[in-house]
Amino acid sequence: MNFDYDLFVIGGGSGGVRAARIAAAEAGVRVGLAEASRMGGTCVIRGCVPKKLMVYASGFPDEIADARANGWDVTAGAFDWSRFRAALATELDRLEGAYRATLRSAGVTIHDARATLVDAHTVRLAGGASFRARHILIATGGHPFVPDFPGSELAVTSNEMFQLESLPKRALLVGGGFIACEFAGILNGLGVQVTQYYRGAQILRGFDDEARAHVAAAMRAAGIDIHVGTDVLELTRAGDGIHATATDGSERVFDLVMYATGRRPNTAGLGLESLGLRLGDRGEVPVDDWSQTAVPSIYAVGDVTDRVNLTPVAIREGHAFADTVFLGRPTRADHSLVPMAVFTRPELGAVGMTEEAARARGPVLVFSTSFRPMKSMFAGRPDKVLMKLVVDQASRRVLGCHIVGPDAAEMIQLAAVAIRMGATKEDFDRTVAVHPTMAEELVTMRKPTRVG
Ligand code: NDP
Repeated sequence: MNFDYDLFVIGGGSGGVRAARIAAAEAGVRVGLAEASRMGGTCVIRGCVPKKLMVYASGFPDEIADARANGWDVTAGAFDWSRFRAALATELDRLEGAYRATLRSAGVTIHDARATLVDAHTVRLAGGASFRARHILIATGGHPFVPDFPGSELAVTSNEMFQLESLPKRALLVGGGFIACEFAGILNGLGVQVTQYYRGAQILRGFDDEARAHVAAAMRAAGIDIHVGTDVLELTRAGDGIHATATDGSERVFDLVMYATGRRPNTAGLGLESLGLRLGDRGEVPVDDWSQTAVPSIYAVGDVTDRVNLTPVAIREGHAFADTVFLGRPTRADHSLVPMAVFTRPELGAVGMTEEAARARGPVLVFSTSFRPMKSMFAGRPDKVLMKLVVDQASRRVLGCHIVGPDAAEMIQLAAVAIRMGATKEDFDRTVAVHPTMAEELVTMRKPTRVG
């Protein structure tokens, strides 16, 4: 059979780009890649990267308060959203260009078009051209999901947040996950009056309970009005803004309502059903450990498979696919012990088991400490850092680490290495502290806070 490409990748996001680059540059095979929107995908264009830049921007009021408390004669002044947005757009253009350049220099042919599947080896571009490929990789990512309710069309999602004409005065964020909590912190830091509705009892479900409570308390202390056990019934537009009628009987008015109620895989209209591929309940492409679908020539990586929906995981899956299929190195993407960070203010970093999950598995020792970070002492801010280790009583292995505080994301990356290596509490104890730091608490906690 004659093929135009050895690999055709649908989707130029984190997973697709990595797979295409490795296959072309390291295996030297012919690779085509189709992207309907901008190269880089959700993470680079409307996710992790612009979000983190907004997190940085939102942190300056605290920095300025610290500076003043440390003797600097500075005042915050006003935040100019349009200036920030222009700088953000320039940076995203640069990054998109870098992605394109990397792919081109690897030898990947880029098609700026939507692609659909015709059969197990054929893709068709929106413009009409078709290509035959020995292997096809679906890496189309996901999109924000907004539930159906009266007035839902008045809500925006994270997609729109980076291109707002102006910052709202009053914003409602709906959801208690990564995105709602991160944007609550960002908007709060930028001076927006923020309300957050979450349907459950505590935000950040899935994370360690003590850490969730710590983040929620800090968010509230920063002025974010979090209402748990609360959901929107209806949104209506009236003269002074968007009226939100909620399950708690309240009606509040906002200038912006953002929904962050999960994401769904981008599989609609791809042509997968016509190939006999049955999608999962959330529309995801089911794959095995090797990211292979039920159609042997078709693979899928990243959020479209709805496994662990994080950029570094999609990158690993894309790399493992290229190693397996083109480089003769069978590699399964490893989904265990994935470190995570939520860029709330303060940040939450986590790896391994929560106290609750570890307890359900067997007896544990919990080492937990909370203290005020040195940097904000002069300013007298009440923020506290949380450092926590969950240890298996029998083996003394550290099962989980949970950090809330400035730079928690940076710290958890390193704790994750030790935990992946199977570090015991004694390994942590033997490690000499770096003083004075926040992270030193991880190696100086001697007495368990809770046992059993
Ligand atoms: P999450 O799955 O993290 O959170 C969704 C939230 O919406 C939950 O609080 C959920 O409640 C709530 N929810 C779901 N459906 C409804 C509904 N019908 N009505 C009301 N509330 C609802 O999704 P996000 O949108 O925040 O983020 C999507 C994914 O993107 C994350 O899971 C993560 O994988 C990734 N991401 C990672 C980031 C990072 O690494 N820092 C940053 C941003 C995103 P409940 O808890 O009750 O289910």
